[in-house]
Amino acid sequence: MTSLDDLPLRPELRGRTPYGAPQVPAAHRLNTNENPHPLPDELLADLGAALGSAALDLNRYPDRDAVALRADLATYLTRTGGQPIEPGQVWAGNGSNEVLQQILQAFGGAGRTALGFTPSYSMHPIIAAGTGTGWVDGHRAADFTIDPGAAVAQLREAAPDVVFVTSPNNPTGTAVDLDTVAALYEATPGVLVVDEAYAEFARTGTPSALTLLPGRPRLVVSRTMSKAFGMAGLRLGYLAADPAVVDAIQLVRLPYHLGSLTQAAARAALAHTDALLATVDAVKAQRDRIVDALPSMGLTSVPSDANFVLFGHVADASAAWRALLDRGVLVRDVGLPGWLRVTAGTPAETDAFLTALGEIAPDHR
Ligand code: PMP
Repeated sequence: MTSLDDLPLRPELRGRTPYGAPQVPAAHRLNTNENPHPLPDELLADLGAALGSAALDLNRYPDRDAVALRADLATYLTRTGGQPIEPGQVWAGNGSNEVLQQILQAFGGAGRTALGFTPSYSMHPIIAAGTGTGWVDGHRAADFTIDPGAAVAQLREAAPDVVFVTSPNNPTGTAVDLDTVAALYEATPGVLVVDEAYAEFARTGTPSALTLLPGRPRLVVSRTMSKAFGMAGLRLGYLAADPAVVDAIQLVRLPYHLGSLTQAAARAALAHTDALLATVDAVKAQRDRIVDALPSMGLTSVPSDANFVLFGHVADASAAWRALLDRGVLVRDVGLPGWLRVTAGTPAETDAFLTALGEIAPDHR
């Protein structure tokens, strides 16, 4: 059998493993931060009609610039982000992962570096590797917050071409305040990407970095329909930035990258934004229920503005992960000693998780 070592693979990819949570069967899958609520019936009906009508034109390439979809996304951001956003400031791709990759294709690449504050979304360094961009690990404080003074010093020293700030952060749930984002922007001559995949789940009073866009042409805010909109299967992510950033990304995007069925489905979904986002409060209530239940089990959590909770301290994260799986609950071992991450889902899923955790906690603290 041919192995990877037999192939003329790029040296920096040798020895790596593909990204991905273990896909093991479990009664309760709380490991990938999806929204468990089914799509509203009225959206399902409209989706069928929208896809049917887009199908009539499948012999043609899609709208290469996704003009109508980007206008709908701009309307959504303007309504919810506290900041008017023009369609020309928005770019969309197949999931925010693709958008992040396009950002690195345009602003990273050979001889350039990107920096992120670990622990954070582990795809950022993987996308850096895939685009030939060097990676620099930035650091967080022991409580997983970003200390502005220390972070600014790290940026000054490393001088990266692209900086990632995930807010709310995955896997810790930690939001980054806007003063810190603004200070990081000033400290770098590069592009500052605020990855807001979980922004809609933030606790009241946590503003979006969208409000910082005016006058900051190197600031990029990325978003997704995979989490709060409950449409992870759609693969639709997007960014808001200065229109010049969108021009730059058009230099690297593949022509017709976003299929016409995807564009049609995303537009149909955005027409039902309020019904889709009605699940957000329910998910936040389950997140807070998990947080509140942990102390009675002798456990703790990191304050979360996302749809998941990083909980601990467990003596051995992989043993606790296995013990929960044995009880039908699949959570994520994110490789942080003493911590595991659980997605907040339905009340029944929280029941199952808390029951299983209550059973295993005495042996795993
Ligand atoms: N950013 C963060 C912080 C994430 O956690 C994820 C998904 N796990 C993504 C981006 C990518 O999401 P998608 O490609 O589904 O939009």
